[in-house]
Amino acid sequence: MPWLQRKRCSTNGALKLKQQPCKKWERSMSRSDYDGIILGAGHNALILQAYLCRSGLKVLAVDRAALCGGGLMSIENPRIPGVLHNIHSFYHRAITAMPWYRDLGLEQLGARYIEPERNVVMRLADGRSLEWWTDLDRTAASFEQFSKRDALALRRWAEDFRPIVDEILVPEAQSPPKEPEERRRFLNSSANGRRLLEVQALSPLEFVCREFENDAIRAGLLFFNGLREVDLRLRGFGHAIPALLASPHKAQMCAGGSERLADALVRDIRNHSGEVLLNAEIKRIIVRSGQAEGLELASGEVIRASGFIASGLNPQQTFLQYLNQSEVSPDVREKAVGFEYNLIAPLMAVHLTLREPPNYSLIEPDGGQLPFMVILGLEKLEQFHEMVAAHEQGNIPPAIMWGTCPTLFDSTQAPAGLHTAFMWQKTPYALHGNPNSWEAAKAELGKRMLDVWSAAAPNLVDAIVDEFILTPVDTESILPNMTRGDLLVGSFARGQIGYNRPFAGAGQYRTPIKKLYLCGGSTHPGGNITGLCGYNAARVIAAELGLKIWWNPPQI
Ligand SMILES: Cc1cc2nc3c(=O)[nH]c(=O)nc-3n(C[C@H](O)[C@H](O)[C@H](O)COP(=O)(O)OP(=O)(O)OC[C@H]3O[C@@H](n4cnc5c(N)ncnc54)[C@H](O)[C@@H]3O)c2cc1C
Repeated sequence: MPWLQRKRCSTNGALKLKQQPCKKWERSMSRSDYDGIILGAGHNALILQAYLCRSGLKVLAVDRAALCGGGLMSIENPRIPGVLHNIHSFYHRAITAMPWYRDLGLEQLGARYIEPERNVVMRLADGRSLEWWTDLDRTAASFEQFSKRDALALRRWAEDFRPIVDEILVPEAQSPPKEPEERRRFLNSSANGRRLLEVQALSPLEFVCREFENDAIRAGLLFFNGLREVDLRLRGFGHAIPALLASPHKAQMCAGGSERLADALVRDIRNHSGEVLLNAEIKRIIVRSGQAEGLELASGEVIRASGFIASGLNPQQTFLQYLNQSEVSPDVREKAVGFEYNLIAPLMAVHLTLREPPNYSLIEPDGGQLPFMVILGLEKLEQFHEMVAAHEQGNIPPAIMWGTCPTLFDSTQAPAGLHTAFMWQKTPYALHGNPNSWEAAKAELGKRMLDVWSAAAPNLVDAIVDEFILTPVDTESILPNMTRGDLLVGSFARGQIGYNRPFAGAGQYRTPIKKLYLCGGSTHPGGNITGLCGYNAARVIAAELGLKIWWNPPQI
């Protein structure tokens, strides 16, 4: 689709942006200096900015894009006015339980969330479906159709892990990470902590195979982890699945499109005198006497900040692209060069505008509850190994897809009589060893996805009004911080977690350069729409600037 292949920050009308009000909030042209400047205006950057603006600081966020929010993007289809596509994040987990959602009053500012009860439906070829509901009893009833033992295991883990989630994992994610030895000592001091250490030591694959017997259930549980998050073979992540089972919150969607969340954040920032500068190419971070003190833009404009510079970009952009290399020690340079991206994170997407919603055969209406996320093509555990092998070889993995018809849950995302729907599939960034292969291959691969999709929803093909495809290469070109299409902005392997995310010496949101901080998805707790990287960075920066912490972060 030429309108999406264009550089997305074009303002020539080729890509009509829904959030036009954002432009009004751009920085005025006065050259006043700031207390703080943030590189990027993704949701983590905006959350950091909102907290510090509420602390009384004058903070500017600078982004190359034409609109705020990064991965919170809803674009209007230029061929069909009023049709919105959420081209990046759509499933926002537990947003309404996030401390920043509450502290910043984002619901009152227009970010309203919907959490459909029939949250995930995995449709199997034999006519059965494995379902995750917001109600544990209903999920257990679905598991029971596959294995009574697994339904019991589900209940046991959901119950056992609940205090671990509430008392340890949630506060940990909402706090700057502890040094690994200190964390171990802290966990060893309680029964729940010791239980967490024991389960965490496993890989997700080991956990699932140890605790669940049914192949489809194993595959479905790993879908939440292996397909979308960490490499399922990675030890140290065995707790991820029981944590998901025990979490009271499932996938949510933002009413009016994902970008409403960014819109609400910018509203709060503007209400507290913050500013966002869009369409601005950054040239470099200015460092003097070992201390960050401003930004130079490609236009030649220099903007200074007396208190801090924070980067919402990835560590390679921050340390290798935007800092003069004489300011970066060889050790940090080496670590930044070695920063790794998730091999299996990149996505290919097919987005449709439809006359009617997909009507899936084999998925029965259940008391009027429509399936929210639909998973197709996932049947058994073995497919994960095939998928990882395909990524390693640069090939297209087996067609496992997942997606939603957003307009079934929020009719504001398309005019009456029209619907939107999308499907995602994991695909390698370097297709056949070279990302340039995507250009020639994407139409054919999109058609293949559509064939699988329409085999499951036979009304689909006749209902299509418009379609477009996005590839991992598009992800990287729209959001360059997602290098190699890694939507989690950095792997969780190689120790790139917790205290050492993105790498040792630049964890805890601080960097070896004075007054330079990190706040994006490449910091703890990592990518996805959690906002916690920005939330935690706000606490660190506020403390270092001697500001009163007006909010109430967890004490752990
Ligand atoms: C296809 C796709 C689907 C996804 N689905 C989900 C989902 O359903 N649920 C979920 O939780 N997450 C999802 N994600 C991941 C999620 O969007 C990201 O992990 C999240 O947006 C990271 O947030 P961030 O604030 O760190 O950075 P981003 O949201 O990436 O924002 C970074 C900002 O920095 C700007 N920037 C980048 N480079 C520069 C530069 N050189 N100069 C100036 N500005 C720059 C960008 O324009 C952007 O505004 C998805 C991502 C993709 C690509």
